[in-house]
Amino acid sequence: MAEDTIFSKVVRGEIPADVVHQDDLVTAFRDIQPLAPTHILIVPNRAIPTLADVSEDDEAVLGRMLRVAADLAADEGVAGNGYRVMINCRNHGGQEVYHLHLHLLGGRPLGPMLMR
Ligand code: 5GP
Repeated sequence: MAEDTIFSKVVRGEIPADVVHQDDLVTAFRDIQPLAPTHILIVPNRAIPTLADVSEDDEAVLGRMLRVAADLAADEGVAGNGYRVMINCRNHGGQEVYHLHLHLLGGRPLGPMLMR
């Protein structure tokens, strides 16, 4: 089990973070280096390294991550203009922290999805 990522420590309250939501399945906190006015990370409480590692047992937590993203976007006031949710997976996806996380980004036009 990959329980000791930096995000596991945030989930357990062992390192400081600006936590905006926590429930039985997921924790959401502001990214330490925000790329947009709203930049929130939503992570499963139980560490899953990457999206490529999920199984059928993870369907509830994956659904919760998306629903919490939508709720937080509304709370942040970015739902009207729209926003982006992103999951980077492994090396080519640009993943830096190997604890599955969804990025919620909004508050400004975010430009094209990818650089050409
Ligand atoms: P990735 O590239 O893995 O999809 O995204 C990792 C994200 O985690 C980055 O946007 C980075 O700024 C953020 N991050 C890395 N370490 C910390 C931390 O200790 N606290 C918080 N709040 N965010 C972090």
